[in-house]
Amino acid sequence: MIQLKVFPFNPLQVNACLIYEPNGAGILIDPSCLNKSEFKELKDFISQNNIKLDYQLNTHGHFDHVFGIGMVKTEYSPKFLIHQGDESFLRMAGDQARSFGFEYEGDLPVPDGFLSDKDAISTGEIHLEVIHVPGHSQGSVAFYAREQGWLFSGDTLFAGGIGRTDLHGGNYEQIITSIKTRLLTLPSETLVFPGHGPQTTIGTESPDF
Ligand SMILES: [Zn+2]
Ligand SMILES: [Zn+2]
Repeated sequence: MIQLKVFPFNPLQVNACLIYEPNGAGILIDPSCLNKSEFKELKDFISQNNIKLDYQLNTHGHFDHVFGIGMVKTEYSPKFLIHQGDESFLRMAGDQARSFGFEYEGDLPVPDGFLSDKDAISTGEIHLEVIHVPGHSQGSVAFYAREQGWLFSGDTLFAGGIGRTDLHGGNYEQIITSIKTRLLTLPSETLVFPGHGPQTTIGTESPDF
């Protein structure tokens, strides 16, 4: 039985989402743990549930979503994948984080590969589909676990709102098109786990558009 654990990490409370089978495979979306105590919380959970972490996947490359990638890579050596459209953010993460007052070196590992629209990511019984949803950034993606009816929407769709489009690579018309044509077309009962804040459903968010 596939399970989900959400860790709101770092002062910006980015939801790191761990999809896992107890005593089986795991995928971590947006490794946002910033310090050793947050990382320990993640590590303790992984060891208590005997999870083999095979992937760390990013919904996009903004600095608050990438803090833990280096720590996780060193500890578990999962494949690190992100959309190529946000690769340049990885090199700016340290500078951007420091400009927001975070103590962060930003020495991130190079991605092991790039995510494209309609890619399928599988390990064990976990299957995710990649949905490219540009607008918050050019490389923003969502991950859809069709069997569970779970959508990991990053900073594209929140409970009661949409992602900001005033940052580098942001585009308002594009994010609206992405949400309308790629996310709100999913079944209305789909549970949505955004990059920040509480979960919602596709059906709850639809009337706003
Ligand atoms: Zn963002
Ligand atoms: Zn964010």
